[in-house]
Amino acid sequence: MSRIAYVNGRYLPFPQATVHVEDRGYQFSDGVYEVCEVKDGRLVDEPLHMRRLQRSLAELKICMPMSLAALRVVLRETVRRNRVRDGLVYLQVSRGVARRDHAFPPAGTAPSVVVTARSTDPSVAERVAAAGVAVITVPESRWERVDIKAIALLPNVLAKQAAKEQGAKEAWFVGKDGYVTEGSSSNAWIVSRDGKVITRPADHGILRGVTRTVLLNVLKAQGLELDERPFTVEEAYAAREAFITSASQSVMPVVRIDGRPVGNGAPGLVATALRKEFHRYSEFV
Ligand code: PLP
Repeated sequence: MSRIAYVNGRYLPFPQATVHVEDRGYQFSDGVYEVCEVKDGRLVDEPLHMRRLQRSLAELKICMPMSLAALRVVLRETVRRNRVRDGLVYLQVSRGVARRDHAFPPAGTAPSVVVTARSTDPSVAERVAAAGVAVITVPESRWERVDIKAIALLPNVLAKQAAKEQGAKEAWFVGKDGYVTEGSSSNAWIVSRDGKVITRPADHGILRGVTRTVLLNVLKAQGLELDERPFTVEEAYAAREAFITSASQSVMPVVRIDGRPVGNGAPGLVATALRKEFHRYSEFV
């Protein structure tokens, strides 16, 4: 079955699913995106993803390309046409097509919208989670507005490739101050020796992950102590547990950081329990 993409008003087989060469997303990375998990045929925490999309667009002064209701229909229709039961739906909105010029195009230029969806195998994800993943640390090299979910991801791409080349799954960015900001495509968490769950506040230096937001509710409900503050690489090395969160991985235990085992080198109890509980607190729509 050929995959189907939504491109500017049409559902097209992948070979025909193309954007214009002067699309500003293509030429300037002038756009934003969202990735939403699909589980049992339903979108996970879609309202939070849509809220973040609207915020990202507003920060970059890009118009909503259509009503929220219409966008939600497109997401569902793309999931349906690709027969995705478990997987991911990807949405990208760029500032549209215009003659190449750095400044914004004329008012009224329509934003471009692309939506794709693909299936993933939940049993593979569970096997990965049961083993845990390795992360490496890399110097923070991104712009300051990482709170915007922009499609400009070159530092993230280079960090992820560095991780891959070192046999790791993720790279954690570390600021000049020695504090971890976040992963190249995930938020970073540790559990201290005294059982506190530590993650950086989302006001500066990180993307406010939807998974992170929902997990904060899980922590509260489970009576776990949260310490929302930045942590250093040394603290992470000495942590009892570590894990990462994202829509595509939910809660993923980290068992090695820069080649050093975290805790006893196996997925931690807290991370494993949080992974198990996570979807009970998600909103399925
Ligand atoms: N941080 C970065 C840089 C990301 O790219 C992502 C997800 O892609 C996240 C955090 C996690 O966000 P979410 O939980 O909304 O997927």
